[in-house]
Amino acid sequence: LFITFEGGEGAGKSTQIQYLAQSLESDGFEVVTTREPGGSAGAEAVRQVLLSGAAEEFGVRMEALLFAAARNDHVEELIRPAILDGKIVLCDRFMDSSRVYQGVTGNLEPEFVRALERVAVNGMTPDLTIILDLPAEIGMKRARARSGDRQAPDRYEKEELAIQIKRREAYLDIARAEPERCRIIDAARPADAIARDIERLVQELVAT
Ligand code: C5P
Repeated sequence: LFITFEGGEGAGKSTQIQYLAQSLESDGFEVVTTREPGGSAGAEAVRQVLLSGAAEEFGVRMEALLFAAARNDHVEELIRPAILDGKIVLCDRFMDSSRVYQGVTGNLEPEFVRALERVAVNGMTPDLTIILDLPAEIGMKRARARSGDRQAPDRYEKEELAIQIKRREAYLDIARAEPERCRIIDAARPADAIARDIERLVQELVAT
């Protein structure tokens, strides 16, 4: 079983992955938790490049190709072997992050994004994608509180808010287009309430 977690900044993806991993493990499942970009030796090396100053000089195509290279390594080195071993894989961000961050707010052509996705994922489509949805303002506040940043000047704040709103809409569009794979979870609630909903969803899936 391959489950991915998606959403904007401050949506609580990593917290929810920890909760779900614990609950599945206490039910006796073997769980692998991982994240993108990264998750395998090759992908972690690409992550270092993507998070370094050098990446600021890259165009969005270069960036998208690097994300795709990292994703393919992650799939072939970690995710697929774990799935073949009967484990449950929980992944923080996957192909939908590229559709949203490089595709929609990066303004990359949809055909380019789709072509890279096909190569990177190579058939390893998630069985379930949990989209942690919350108003952009709340997500930004949470992310800022976590990083200890002070409020940015108003103009940047407005630009950032507009981008986050676009990303939220893009995730909701994906969920509408692929209702079989995607579930939207209201992430503006307390973490334990969210965790209970996710647990219920996953238990249904495990039972089938
Ligand atoms: O929220 P998280 O810690 O996963 O954020 C990692 C960052 O990497 C995101 O805020 C986003 O800016 C970036 N990212 C991206 N494209 C992806 C995945 C992550 O731009 N496909």
